[in-house]
Amino acid sequence: PDPPGPGRPAAPAPAARVPRFVVHEHSARRMHWDLRLEHDGVLASWALPRGVPDDPAHNRKAVRTEDHPLEYLDFEGEIPAGSYGAGTIKIWDRGTYEPQKWRADEVIAVFHGQRLSGRYALFQAGAERDWLMHRMDPPADPNREPMPRHIPPMLARPG
Ligand code: MN
Repeated sequence: PDPPGPGRPAAPAPAARVPRFVVHEHSARRMHWDLRLEHDGVLASWALPRGVPDDPAHNRKAVRTEDHPLEYLDFEGEIPAGSYGAGTIKIWDRGTYEPQKWRADEVIAVFHGQRLSGRYALFQAGAERDWLMHRMDPPADPNREPMPRHIPPMLARPG
């Protein structure tokens, strides 16, 4: 490893950093996903009972939950029985996002993750905690694979 020295690049200024997100898969009393967006020094959070929408025609419920500390960006593990949110938490996806709009009742963001990717809106639709998540891009196609042209059908799905 390189020894520390004067040539090492300085860490980027916090203001210049791109905000991060994480989606936790939370096996609790009821399975759900927790979307957490780095914003103003905390993780603004929504619980998604049915996960992230993959089709603009089908919005999904997003329950606005408590802000979480930034340490949760990396959190995986067990929350002991008897505690709030008891169960197993795994990271379903994480990455960065570009906030395009951030208001008290609406957030529009472009996500850059492995699984959560593209432009989405989160907006309040009813009571304070009742939000919806809407995919603004065309439907995600999980079967999308770059297919070479002129390949015999039998060989279209190698390996
Ligand atoms: Mn949860």
